[in-house]
Amino acid sequence: MNSGHLVRMPTVHTCPLVISSWNKGLSTCVMIGQKGEKIVTVSQTSILVIEDEPSIAEVVSLYLRRAGFEVQVLADGSAAIAIMERQMPDLLILDIMLPGLDGLEITRWLRDRNDVPIIMLTARRAESDRIAGLEMGADDYVVKPFSPQELVSRVRAVLRRTHSGGPARADAPLVFGELQIDPTTRLVHRGEREIILTAKEFDMLWLLACHPRQVFSREQLLDRVWGYSDYIDSSSVTVHVRRLREKIETDPAHPAHLVTVWGVGYKFEP
Ligand code: CA
Repeated sequence: MNSGHLVRMPTVHTCPLVISSWNKGLSTCVMIGQKGEKIVTVSQTSILVIEDEPSIAEVVSLYLRRAGFEVQVLADGSAAIAIMERQMPDLLILDIMLPGLDGLEITRWLRDRNDVPIIMLTARRAESDRIAGLEMGADDYVVKPFSPQELVSRVRAVLRRTHSGGPARADAPLVFGELQIDPTTRLVHRGEREIILTAKEFDMLWLLACHPRQVFSREQLLDRVWGYSDYIDSSSVTVHVRRLREKIETDPAHPAHLVTVWGVGYKFEP
């Protein structure tokens, strides 16, 4: 059902995974067999939708199936855990308010075990739930009511990001439109133009850009970028964000990437 099984086949000793056709809901795995022969397999990408509102579950599964994905729908959090203990999907779409275990508890359970991509479905008002979900390791979220086509686009984007480089490969440059961030050379480019960043500016940008849409508080940034220090306070974070915006944003007064989340902190919009 998913390419994870193929990777564990005993006759195969190396498996460079090439994923080339998410748009059709398919994953292509190219493996090298024991005699050096190429084994190419194409499998359908499986998505588990955990949503207790039948009308939403129905329209989501309809659009995902049309996009070529294999879809299973469950309405109960505890039942979902039982299923995932036996068979992990390639991606999870997870409502937060659920009977049985809720979406946040499921995310916590999952993140103790593996890194299956998670997209959360959240209510418009529940910003604290969204933040909690992202902090626990959800990869993205969609706010209800949403367009099913937008959800399909998010699914493809998360699959591309989590399966073909991006933050999953520590040494690969991150590219967001014209902005390119290279962790090996520590260089940032906007189109052809090289942008000079200080060490801390780079570290902060890299941390935020590796976790698109995840909100970091000033204290978290201080802790992750500077480590503990008596001499630094959270206003340093504000200053560094301002300088970064002046360097990387087209319009620093209206930042497209380094976005303030009022009352909480900052996030990187891809
Ligand atoms: Ca619900």
